[in-house]
Amino acid sequence: MTQEAMDEECISQKTRRPSMASSGNSTPSLHSRDSTPAPGHRGSHLGAGSAPHSRSCSFRTKQRPPSKDLEVQPAPIRRNSMPLVKPTLLEVPDREVGDQSPGKENKLTRVRSFKTTSKGVINRGDSFKKKSTHSLMSTGAVGDGKKARAPSTGRGQETQGGNPGGYYKVITLGGTGVGKSTLCRQFMTSEFTGFEGQEAGNTMTVTVQLDGVESTLEFFDPVERTISSEQLQVDAYIVVFSITDHASFGVANSIVRYLRVDFGTDRAIILVANKIDLVRKRKVSADEARLCAESFDCKYAETSAALNHHVDELLVGSLSQIRLKLNISTVLPPVVKDNRKKEKKKRQSFARSILNKLFRRTAKKAQSCDNLYAL
Ligand code: GDP
Ligand code: MG
Repeated sequence: MTQEAMDEECISQKTRRPSMASSGNSTPSLHSRDSTPAPGHRGSHLGAGSAPHSRSCSFRTKQRPPSKDLEVQPAPIRRNSMPLVKPTLLEVPDREVGDQSPGKENKLTRVRSFKTTSKGVINRGDSFKKKSTHSLMSTGAVGDGKKARAPSTGRGQETQGGNPGGYYKVITLGGTGVGKSTLCRQFMTSEFTGFEGQEAGNTMTVTVQLDGVESTLEFFDPVERTISSEQLQVDAYIVVFSITDHASFGVANSIVRYLRVDFGTDRAIILVANKIDLVRKRKVSADEARLCAESFDCKYAETSAALNHHVDELLVGSLSQIRLKLNISTVLPPVVKDNRKKEKKKRQSFARSILNKLFRRTAKKAQSCDNLYAL
């Protein structure tokens, strides 16, 4: 650059400076390239000689004095380009929330909805509804001793504001540490409860809407080994053992025998092989467990309470067994159908039955102890 050109450049810079100052900024340190920036200013880290045309240097941020009445939280520092979202997208209330003082009726109760299809149980999620203080009474449907063999006439009593599908009692039995409490806790919610501990000896209730009919199930998870015969008067028994512990299977076996032979109940008993996630530690085979279930007219299910695997199926299956044993029809009011359609369906089902026979797919599976939706 020639001396002349350099002089011209110098003049042009000199003439530009006053125009920056005229933007209303009277602090020399913000627009002057040579001056030292004010201590603590945002742009101060640029230091002398940094970009002179940076717009952040042209405007002064107005800082209002902090109000004594208003406490303003500083905006969170964004560390990425994604929008800031709350960690919980959906907050659901606890099982029972609201004003729980006596006389108030605004408690919320969780209703778990399920639908049975040919492909299995479909969990339709949980909803919350106001809980009425008019509670339902249990049937106490099982009599003591031999009386229990009497054909069932009972069903969950319906009281004012009650549940049309009934109120049933279920007891969980089995050795210690097999996962009874973990199972009960998972029955209460569709949310995953995992390995969290649970106070034993609790009575927990859950409302289940199965195929459009609502029923309430009360689970009793006893702590002590001694149980009164009154406590055994329930609508269904869930007898649990751990597949990793053969001794626990022995305990379950003798409980099942006691219930059927000595106590003489005709109600649903479901033998549950829990902890099936621990495959490599398996000590009790499915065949062995099935044999026990079949010989005492029980149903058989395999679960992993800790992984919430087949727990919904067990809950729904228990309710189905209760309904089947008590001969409760959950069929909704019949819809008037076209006769021709009926005939066509009949023909189709006849054809299907012949095919099933041909391919040896008869109702053997449907009648097996694995099917919780059949007697
Ligand atoms: P309970 O004494 O029969 O009530 O047994 P708990 O429900 O208290 O469970 C005993 C232990 O087994 C706990 O540490 C649970 O986390 C664990 N547990 C329960 N169910 C399962 C399961 O399905 N799989 C595994 N791996 N552990 C389980
Ligand atoms: Mg327990």
